[in-house]
Amino acid sequence: MMSLYNEIRPKTFDDILGNEENKKILKGIIRNKSYEIRKQYMFSSTIGGVGKTTAAMIFSKAINCENTIDGNPCNNCKRCIEHDKGRNPYFIKLNGAEYNQVDKIKPIIEMGKQKTFDGTYRVIVIDEVQRMSNQAISEFLDPFEFGDYKTVFILTTTNVSSVPQPVLSRLINLDFTPPSPNDIIGLFKRISPDEDVTNFILSNYDGSVRDLLSKYEKYKISGLDVPKYSVYDDLSMDILKSLVNGSSTVQFSIMQYEDKHIYKVPEIFYFWMSGSDYKCPISDSVLNKMRSLIPKKVIKDISKDFLKYKPSNMEELSLFLSFYDSGENKVSVETELLMNGFRKVG
Ligand SMILES: [Zn+2]
Repeated sequence: MMSLYNEIRPKTFDDILGNEENKKILKGIIRNKSYEIRKQYMFSSTIGGVGKTTAAMIFSKAINCENTIDGNPCNNCKRCIEHDKGRNPYFIKLNGAEYNQVDKIKPIIEMGKQKTFDGTYRVIVIDEVQRMSNQAISEFLDPFEFGDYKTVFILTTTNVSSVPQPVLSRLINLDFTPPSPNDIIGLFKRISPDEDVTNFILSNYDGSVRDLLSKYEKYKISGLDVPKYSVYDDLSMDILKSLVNGSSTVQFSIMQYEDKHIYKVPEIFYFWMSGSDYKCPISDSVLNKMRSLIPKKVIKDISKDFLKYKPSNMEELSLFLSFYDSGENKVSVETELLMNGFRKVG
């Protein structure tokens, strides 16, 4: 039986959750047929299961699609259908762990230089290239110097810093980030419209869509109810208390939180602080407690700046929060943010 993750795997770039910038870029490359000139790509992310391979499959399909629609594959032409059935002989997916030595990868690169029989493009995806030796991955420097072949290479990795610079600088590198919890909630509304699994999502989602779907599927295939528990509220309260008590403890608490819930923290702050009409994933009672603990003005200030500077990772978030911990009205928060490398967004 096909796993839920594969069953609902997006069929167009537009269906991919989040990653808006990457989707725009990939669609642009298809529209402009830029893959005819730039044939080497790196799709990276810090954790697996965020859609790199999915994007590679759609990219491959779109390259050979006879009737692309605004950069997306049509999913209707003969080539798209064959691709979806796994019958495209020129879509090749390998794992870097098995091709980690020079003598293993050389034949693959040689294959890339061969013509295809029907003039279509060959796409060779090599997953987990961080598991290849430096010498093996450096073999990719060779095809970069060639121009006249119809093979697109997509390397993927969860550790882009391990890729030697001379190789990396010759690739078009797209970094994939985990979809936001809001995106995930939207996805589940499509999969299971009558079921409220918000708490389950918020308690279990750690950035990997694949892992989350597999946790969910475990209950569905055994006919059990998906647990309704939420660790979210308690943890939020911990962070909140730390926030009120000072930055060193905030940092500590957030770091603890990070282990399991790194991708939710910015979201929590967003919900706390925006006071917007967004569906708040925190229960009303906890939200009210939070609001009574932090002075309104402080919430407002942090919220305003949060949206303006939007910290994008844990380190940034703790640094960002540290400017608000003194309890005094720091006029220079903005200056400090700018001096610390924050840039206004939007
Ligand atoms: Zn098509």
